[in-house]
Amino acid sequence: MQEARDLSFGYSMKLHEQYMREALKEAQRAFEEEEVPVGAVVVQEGKIIARASNQVERLKDPTAHAEMLALTSATHFLRTKWLKDASLYVTIEPCSMCAGALVLARIKNIYYGAKDPKTGACGSLTNLVNHKKLNHRIKTQGGILQEDCASLLSEFFKKKRHRRN
Ligand SMILES: [Zn+2]
Repeated sequence: MQEARDLSFGYSMKLHEQYMREALKEAQRAFEEEEVPVGAVVVQEGKIIARASNQVERLKDPTAHAEMLALTSATHFLRTKWLKDASLYVTIEPCSMCAGALVLARIKNIYYGAKDPKTGACGSLTNLVNHKKLNHRIKTQGGILQEDCASLLSEFFKKKRHRRN
């Protein structure tokens, strides 16, 4: 029994990593466009129904985080305002704005890569995804391919500092 459970966990972890790699491709695209490299995909019934990279610089819009763009794209695709059966994969722990939007969207699961100690709203700075006073809670798991997700970010900021000097 124990063994079976471990096997199924191994399988699902592999699947989570597969979707996170797709989010990482989006983050890489952001990196190449000189945006803070964050990427996200929305998955429902095993299919990627939306994908987005951070576009704050390009759109000159402080709300154009990857999660917000992926969420809007997913609701357009499904023609619904709620994402009750969907999961979001994002390379970095969502901020307060994104976590708030994901609660409003009633999304089922959030899987993220690296923690964001400065702005993360899934337990780091605050916790909006499992807030006892909010009427929706999101199952959340971090640490998926966290090194890949974090190193892309640190590489970006290193490059940026370098350019400034
Ligand atoms: Zn955000």
